[in-house]
Order: sequence, then structure tokens, then C-alpha cells
Amino acid sequence: MALTHDDLREAFRSAGYQLWLVGGALRDRLLGIASKDIDYATDALPDAVEELLRGLGAEVSTVGKRFGTIGVRIDGEWVEITTFRGDSYAGGTRWPEVRFGRSIEEDLARRDFTITAFAENAHTGEWLDLFGGEADLRAGIIRAVGDPATRFREDPLRILRGIRFVSQLGFRLEPATGAAMRETAHLIDTLSQERITGELDRLLQGAAPGAGLEALRTTGALAFALPELAGMPGCEQNRFHRFDVWGHSVATVEAIAVTPGTLRLRRWAALLHDLGKPAVRHRKPNGEWGFYRHETVGAELAEALLERLRLGRAESQRIVLLVRRHMDRPDPADRRAVRRFMAKLGGHWRDLLALKRADNASHTYDDTAYHDALEAACARAEAEEAAALRAESPLSGDDLVELFGRPPGPWVGVIKRELSRAVLDGDLAPGDREGAIALARAKLGPRPSAPPQPGSSPR
Ligand code: ATP
Ligand code: MG
Repeated sequence: MALTHDDLREAFRSAGYQLWLVGGALRDRLLGIASKDIDYATDALPDAVEELLRGLGAEVSTVGKRFGTIGVRIDGEWVEITTFRGDSYAGGTRWPEVRFGRSIEEDLARRDFTITAFAENAHTGEWLDLFGGEADLRAGIIRAVGDPATRFREDPLRILRGIRFVSQLGFRLEPATGAAMRETAHLIDTLSQERITGELDRLLQGAAPGAGLEALRTTGALAFALPELAGMPGCEQNRFHRFDVWGHSVATVEAIAVTPGTLRLRRWAALLHDLGKPAVRHRKPNGEWGFYRHETVGAELAEALLERLRLGRAESQRIVLLVRRHMDRPDPADRRAVRRFMAKLGGHWRDLLALKRADNASHTYDDTAYHDALEAACARAEAEEAAALRAESPLSGDDLVELFGRPPGPWVGVIKRELSRAVLDGDLAPGDREGAIALARAKLGPRPSAPPQPGSSPR
């Protein structure tokens, strides 16, 4: 039987343990948005939590146990129950060390930002907002709990978490919090790459990625989290551009059209598409800045960067591919050129078009007509391809019987299979009735006088 939140509460209550709803779920509830994860805090130690949950016959996860967290499946979702923490980050370590706290107040005081430091008592409904988090939430402010620089020194990941919240929530950094981030940004170097990459990845997928990226730059965190991008701010361009390379990249991230399934790929590709520009910038004979081959150099730099970030091999390769191809400009009227363009993109032509359109959003010229034409040409080629892969004979059995004036029989199936194979092999275009008649005639004898009109027979 599936465990419910009521069962959980009741089990903790009757065992004499506190249980508090904490963290992001409360923040999200106040914002009126759906929360993907629910976190509880308790005074029970991890062993006791595990024992209690196993006693309920619940599905339990102990992967986070050494950090004080036991996972449990409730209503089909994983919920985390974490023993109160006390203040105890050993500075300089790659992963924070955990010590347990005695009260919910102590636990809340070690949370990083006011908007994540609420608690609601699961037994009594008591609401705790000790640091003015509700007011900050209403005002759209990211403010550290306690002395910001101290908190960032304890765990520099908080710098990136705060900036990630800027992107996810569209909030701004409270000035003292931002200043402390600048002061401690160099400590990002002490973090494990896995933690840094996790935050950057979420930052890029937020609702206000431009604000998050700008916060990354203004706090100086960019130079430590993504030093490969340090040459972009201040890299001026030419009359085709409204911004420097950084401003243009941020604008492209903001502008790119996304769907849930393409969000990650497209945002990363938008951020990195001009990564090669600072390295290749040169004066052209007319005195303007040129960026010859920046897409090729950029693809190489992006590949090295993504390898270092360990973003995942398949996704990295797709991002690099989009960077490499973002200057491609086939003639939409040239069928072969369009097909070669699509083949190079291995199924990602829609992602590349989204990138090209977003890239153009901060250019000083409008390329929309070209992009529309290219998109239509690609869609057409894809439809043809799909039809070829369906390998439908352009002529139905009825067509053949009517066309050749023969009684139905096994010959109909033989000819249809042959026509299907010709379509699949590319020897016959999908729906090419004339070509199909010619092929059938070569097998069967003379061509009949009048071919039936397209659509005249039901099959
Ligand atoms: P989300 O789940 O949307 O990423 P979150 O704020 O819930 O955001 P979690 O990683 O789920 O983040 O952490 C749960 C809670 O634990 C946070 O709300 C915060 O109160 C606290 N927390 C997480 N990481 C830290 C940290 N590095 N320092 C201090 N408190 C933290
Ligand atoms: Mg959470």
C-alpha cells in the first residue's frame, strides 16, 4: 500500500518526533508554482528515520544518509527527510561536512537564502519565517541568511545557487549579498566540478537566464565558473551587431525559442555559439572587426569546455554540432544544398534554425525571410523523406487493376511490393504516379491510355 503524507506525519507524531516542511516547496507554494520536490526536516537521527520508514513498509533510499537525508516514496514521488543540521561547514572542503542541529531554528539559520529558510510544522501548522523571507519573496530579492560573506566562505556553492535563483525566479541580488559574492567568488575554484556544473546547468534553464548570466558576470563568478567565457564581455563587434560578444550571447540565450525537450540543448548552444569570436577577432581591410572561422574555432573551444564541465557526452556533442554549423546558409531553393545541410545536422535542423533566428535577434539586420524560407525547405525535404520511408506504392491495387485492365490476382501484390521498394530505395519519388506507371508497364506490358486521376480510388 502506498504511503501518504498523512501516514508519514502520523508515524513521526506517534514516535514523538518533530516534522517540518522546509525549503523550496514552501517557497514555491508562496509563489503559487508547482514544486517538484518536497523536503522535511526532523529532530530524529537518520538511523531512527530509516527504521521508522522501514517499519511503515515504505520504499526507502539511503543514498544521502551520510548527509543526514533519507529518501522515501510518498504518493509515487521521492520525498527527502533530513535531520536538523547545525552550523558546521568545514571550510575548504569539496563537499560540505554535516553536523546535526538541535532545533528547527538552528536548522533554518544554516540555510543559505531567506527565501529558502521557511518552515511549517507538519503537526501543528506553525509557520516559521525567522529571516524575513516572505517579504523578500514578495519583493523579488535574493538575500543571504546571516552575514553573506561568511555564508559564502562556508560553502561557496551558495554563490552559484543564489545566482541560479536569480535565473529561475527572475529575482535580483540584494546589494550586500551581491557584494559578498564578488568578494568570495574566487572560492568557486574550491568546489567540485559536479556541483558547479549542476548549478550552471540549472541557471541556463531558468525562466530569466539573461538576468542569471548577468549576475554571473557582475559578481565576477563568471571568471571562476566559466573562465573560458571571460573574453566575451568587452569584445566589441561590428556594424552588424548591437552588443559586444557577451551581450549578444546573453541576448541569444534569452531569445531562443525552446520546448521542454529542447531547453537544455538550445540554451547551452545559444550561450556558446560565438565562443570562438574573441580568439579569432581580426581587423578586416575595411577597418571593421572580422570573425572569420569563429564557428570552427568556437566548436573546438566548446568541446573542450563541455568536456571539462562533464555535461554529458551526447548532449555535449549536440551542442558542439550546433556551434559548428551556426553560420551555415544553404540556398533554400537548392534542394541538394538543403539536404546536405540537414544531413550534417543529424536530425537537429530545427534546433539550428532556432539558434539562427535567436542569433539574428540582436543583429542590426533582419534575416527572418531567409529563415522562413530555409525552414519551409527543410520541412518539405523532411516530409519527402518520411514519405519515402513509409515506402508506399504511389499506385493502389485498385489503380493497377483499373490501369492495366487485368482481373485482380497475385500480380497486384507483386507489382505493389516492387513499387514500394523503388520508393524506399529512392528510385521513385513518393507519390510519383507517372513514374510508377512507367515502372509497372515495364513489368506488365503496354501503358493504358488514360491514367486515373490522383485520389480517384480509395486506397
Ligand atoms: P530546488 O529544489 O528548486 O533546486 P531548493 O532550494 O529546494 O531548490 P535543494 O537542493 O532542494 O534546493 O535544497 C533544499 C533546501 O536546503 C534549500 O531550500 C535550502 O534551504 C537548503 N540548502 C540547500 N543547499 C544548501 C547550501 N549549499 N547551503 C545552505 N542551505 C542549503
Ligand atoms: Mg528542493
